[in-house]
Amino acid sequence: MAFEQLLSGKLLREFETISAMVKIYCKAHHKNTNVHPCAECDEFLEYAHTRLDRCPYGQEKPTCNKCPVHCYKPHMKAKAREIMIFAGPRMLLPHPIMAIRHLLSERHPVPGKPPKAHSNRHLRTRVIDKS
Ligand SMILES: [Zn+2]
Repeated sequence: MAFEQLLSGKLLREFETISAMVKIYCKAHHKNTNVHPCAECDEFLEYAHTRLDRCPYGQEKPTCNKCPVHCYKPHMKAKAREIMIFAGPRMLLPHPIMAIRHLLSERHPVPGKPPKAHSNRHLRTRVIDKS
């Protein structure tokens, strides 16, 4: 997946966490033994990546289950929930640091309205425009 380089910092870490969860989920639910998730899960990951890139909070992004902005389409949201519920508790052994970091960030207070022009995508395209 060549699109991973678009994200950085907290957003990239979040994407890596989601990727790890999707792998655990895909292996168990889709009998997938490949390193890469199946086509269906890959589509979900690509969607999640786009949502992260466009998240109006950018690097100040809250965890998704606390976010006041509902940016996922209903069926993608349902899939995200399913993946989190299944893979969340199974993250601690293979990915202890990711799992703990995610738990800690869930304890941050819920933010107010997203700041203006703060998404990764906005900042990214603005940098490109300048050059
Ligand atoms: Zn799958």
